[in-house]
Parts: sequence; structure tokens; C-alpha cells
Amino acid sequence: MTRYRKTKTHRGIRDVKRAKRTRARVKDLDQIHEDIKNPEKVATGAVDADLPGLGQHYCLQCARYFTTAASLNDHIKTKLHKKRLKVLKEEPYTQKEAERAAGLGTDNGKGRETATSVSTAPTAMEL
Ligand SMILES: [Zn+2]
Repeated sequence: MTRYRKTKTHRGIRDVKRAKRTRARVKDLDQIHEDIKNPEKVATGAVDADLPGLGQHYCLQCARYFTTAASLNDHIKTKLHKKRLKVLKEEPYTQKEAERAAGLGTDNGKGRETATSVSTAPTAMEL
């Protein structure tokens, strides 16, 4: 395990090793986007004794379980949850988008409208 940057990266985290454990990992944003698209897969409402609050109170956006409905309602009012909502408004990057950025996209005539409109705009040199 290597260390990349030592200073100013662990603000507020006392035990970095513990925070980086695999079991401390939470869902990534693209996984949460998939969950939001089909929420019935995640929030099934089934009783699970291993989860907090028997898995009844789940925040879909933060991918967290809560013990009671009151704590879930408190969580919805917090800054953390509101920040997450703001971040989730952005669409996640796709593989196609990455390939297009690298110039690997297929040119089948679709999506040309934007390209031609940019190229046909009169430049100062032509005028
Ligand atoms: Zn939340």
C-alpha cells in the first residue's frame, strides 16, 4: 500500500487506516444512480435482522439504513443529505462519453448537428 499525498488530505479523519478499510466502503455515486432508476430492487421493505432498524428505514440517495422513521426524517433535514441530493443531480459519466472525449466514437451521422453548427459559425478570419 502506497501513500500518495500526506498533507492536507485527511482533515477530520483521525484514523486513516480504519477509514480506508473495505468494510467501511459505501456505495459509489453511479451505483446510487442505478438504485434511483429502479428503487424497488433496493428498498424492498423486507425485514432483515442484520440491518439497522430491520432494514425498514432506508435513504436511497445516501444508501444508508436508519433505526427509526424519526431518525430517517432527521437525516433528510441534514446538510449531508442535502449535499448528496445536489451531487446526484449531475448525470454520471458513461463509457461512451469517455470514448467520445478520447476521439474513439463512431461517426454514423448522429450527433453531427452540433458539430456542423460549430464549424459553420462565421469566424473573424472569414469576414
Ligand atoms: Zn440521505
